[in-house]
Amino acid sequence: MELSVLPLEQWGMPRKAPFLCAGPCSAESEEQLLETARGIERGGISLLRAGLWKPRTQPGTFEGVGVRGLEWLTRAGQAIDVPVATEVATPQHVEACLKHNIHVLWIGARTTTNPFAVQALADALLGTDIPVFVKNPISPDVELWIGAIHRLWNAGLRRIGAIHRGFSTSKKILYRNAPNWKIPIELKRRIPAIPLLCDPSHICGRGDLIFSIAQEALDLLYDGLMVEVHRSPAEALSDSGQQLTPGEFHELVRRLTIKRESADSSEYQTRIRELRHEIDTIDEHMLQLLSKRMEIAAKMGDLKRKNNISVLQPHRWEEIIESRRAMGEELGLSGEFLFQLLQIIHEEAIEQQETKVRKTGSGEERKEKTDEGQ
Ligand code: PEP
Ligand code: MN
Repeated sequence: MELSVLPLEQWGMPRKAPFLCAGPCSAESEEQLLETARGIERGGISLLRAGLWKPRTQPGTFEGVGVRGLEWLTRAGQAIDVPVATEVATPQHVEACLKHNIHVLWIGARTTTNPFAVQALADALLGTDIPVFVKNPISPDVELWIGAIHRLWNAGLRRIGAIHRGFSTSKKILYRNAPNWKIPIELKRRIPAIPLLCDPSHICGRGDLIFSIAQEALDLLYDGLMVEVHRSPAEALSDSGQQLTPGEFHELVRRLTIKRESADSSEYQTRIRELRHEIDTIDEHMLQLLSKRMEIAAKMGDLKRKNNISVLQPHRWEEIIESRRAMGEELGLSGEFLFQLLQIIHEEAIEQQETKVRKTGSGEERKEKTDEGQ
């Protein structure tokens, strides 16, 4: 079922493109919030953010100012004439925000991960029509993200947006949270109308990387950004390494280029059509070759089975990775891309070989295995 959420144009909010939500990670004092809000006013923001209840990894660290920050937030928003937003994680947070007429809510990544918590929020939101953004869950699980959106939709909300803030990973990477763009792209494919913001602050974890991730999001037609800005990041009580100063935020906004989905000029249209045609032809050849490769893998499976040879051949696999990687890198492809591509092809080839074994075994055995995978 397609979730009929409203596109950002129909949210009844002042709309500038891109839609910029900015403000400190946490409200720390009324003065800090107001000074930061005044500092970013010129950036043309659509929404002022500040966290009041902070989900911290360790106890004993700053966990937010709580309900007393609601009035600070409201007054800071009024001072710069911009609607305000904060994070909610419990029904009590929702009630407090509704009581203080906070304009927009967001659900944090850790909360999205827990369906019980999201359902409790959806129950608290029943009968309201406040806009809510749902951050991606910490694991790269698009179904969990869609599930959270669905719970809010079931509660009658229609102004529901999504925020891509990156995913936890055990790999050593440049970023605090891996961007994993394919997950938000899949979300957008599944719910095309959903307003999508990128939060480069939580993806990057450091200020100097924010521009490239923010621009990449705009290149992918995101509706806007959520950026953490603090009057004095070094002194911030949470996420100090990733917050921008108001000056850096203005510089970020100035440098960003907004992309369009298409252009009317006939020169552009002709050239893009030609290039797309070339891509279509290459994809066709690629699929034919892959199909042929899988057929051969299936034949190898037969041969191995007859000779009682294992499907997995570690040395051969190692040799394939090394040689194809070198070959691909020579052709200008990235090592990481080649590794992932080879892994997917290898996995499917093993599947083909095993399928063949199962096909020649008893029908029962194959059926059981198929059901198990569903
Ligand atoms: C935040 O926006 O300050 C925050 C806690 O974000 P996330 O839920 O993405 O970690
Ligand atoms: Mn933060």
